[in-house]
Amino acid sequence: MESSIKPNIKDIKDYIGRDIQDLLRASIFFKIIKKRKEGKKEEEEEEVMIDQDVYQTKSGSPMGTFRNFRSKGLSVFTPQNSDIIEFITLYNEDIESYRMCPLKLPYKLEWKHKNQDVVRRLGDSKNKGGGSIPVWINFEHMGISFQFLNNDWADSANPITHITIFNPSKQQTDCSLCLRPVAKAKDGTVLAQCLCGLSFCSSACLDDFKQYHLCTFG
Ligand SMILES: [Zn+2]
Ligand SMILES: [Zn+2]
Repeated sequence: MESSIKPNIKDIKDYIGRDIQDLLRASIFFKIIKKRKEGKKEEEEEEVMIDQDVYQTKSGSPMGTFRNFRSKGLSVFTPQNSDIIEFITLYNEDIESYRMCPLKLPYKLEWKHKNQDVVRRLGDSKNKGGGSIPVWINFEHMGISFQFLNNDWADSANPITHITIFNPSKQQTDCSLCLRPVAKAKDGTVLAQCLCGLSFCSSACLDDFKQYHLCTFG
């Protein structure tokens, strides 16, 4: 997967309506919709920015600016003193007064999908949590994380509340099924891999996973 997301705030001009795969690789993130001001003639047309509320964190982590486009189901974060977008969050309907993000979701996901739909597509990850807080899972090697509504991992019909997209930080190191180290040849080639790119510790794990995997290849 292309791994450089370096969109520039100055480039945030053209994105709503683009395929989400563009989000993962494009230098252009989203569109500030141009619309004609009511009652104005064409020659007097002005650009009107879509509604946003801006929130700057003053302390703690992360330090920077959130630009929340609630009517478009999107929030964008830039670190302090930077105009490079670090992550973008896409929202489901009625989460923190966001509308449902209209973009096509990655990995053949839909907003009506539940936590088990995510894991059947993307496998398991060591980087997850929940219990006292709502369940979340982070796939650092794919540059995507998911947050769900309820706190219990045993709830297999847990709705997605939001999806965060960021720059993938590393290669996959843990088996997508059992979380043991991914099997690699001396030259670094992954030895057990699905067509979609998920990697495994062994062909046994790959075969086991395939029984319920919803492969996103192609
Ligand atoms: Zn395994
Ligand atoms: Zn697959």
